[in-house]
Amino acid sequence: MPNPKANLRLYNSQEKPTWCPGCGDYGILVAVKQAAAGAGLLPHQVMIVSGIGCGSKLPHYMHANGFNNLHGRSLPIAQGIKLANHEMTVIVVTGDGDGLGIGAGHFVHTCRRNPDLTHLIQNNQVYGLTKGQYSPTSPIGFVTSTSPEGTIEAGINPVALSLINGSTFVARTFAGDPKHMAGILMEAIKHPGHAVIDALQPCVIYNKINTYDYYRQRVYKLEDTDYDPSDRGAALQKSMEWDEQIPIGIIYQETGRPTYESQVDVLKAGPLNQQPMDGQSIEAYEGMKTELV
Ligand code: SF4
Ligand code: MG
Repeated sequence: MPNPKANLRLYNSQEKPTWCPGCGDYGILVAVKQAAAGAGLLPHQVMIVSGIGCGSKLPHYMHANGFNNLHGRSLPIAQGIKLANHEMTVIVVTGDGDGLGIGAGHFVHTCRRNPDLTHLIQNNQVYGLTKGQYSPTSPIGFVTSTSPEGTIEAGINPVALSLINGSTFVARTFAGDPKHMAGILMEAIKHPGHAVIDALQPCVIYNKINTYDYYRQRVYKLEDTDYDPSDRGAALQKSMEWDEQIPIGIIYQETGRPTYESQVDVLKAGPLNQQPMDGQSIEAYEGMKTELV
């Protein structure tokens, strides 16, 4: 049940972001707070998991549970959290390098498992934190310090990759439109299953091609068309649309597929973190922890 006390201010933190002025991560931060509040969640019900990268500092700038962990390892951590307490709303934020390069194997296996978590990929097509190397989503020909003559590798398509591997909610949105992003995120949070959001996020320092203007001239909203997001084949075709026109909105949503955690027998008795362990009640276990501190 949405909590009527939920509001954006509860998510504000004292920490000031260190992102470059104009970075798309600011829009993403606002959207994540708005979506969590809009979904009627209080900060203690939300866990933000991130890895390494500029955007992965996001949990520091939000008043909620946060786990800023190793590069590429956010998804296994998030799934562990979900299995330990499946009542927690888990939102994963990773960059394109973190989520689709270092963490690519985890990404594919998370898609096919359908855990109930939301993964927002801060996709700026470059490694920003380490000063502008090409990333797994950089397009062919992208010139960076590690590709001075332009990349010769094709970029990963996060939308197509999620669709092919079984994600049950796949969307794209744009950091220059935080309201749209918050709306998509809220739908993703409410979706019972694995949700992937390709968040187009300008890096104003190291990506001079995919700028705010570049996206503003190209993005169009699927919700303004008669597009039907329930057809995976049509969604796959839509995922190939890029360059001249870039669709944003819900690209695919499948309802009715059971989540990973709903099929784990031991969780049927309630969240694991509220079940007795080794014959010890939760209170006794907490007492043992206190003795060890
Ligand atoms: Fe944002 Fe790019 Fe600056 Fe990193 S380097 S904070 S991604 S603008
Ligand atoms: Mg990046």
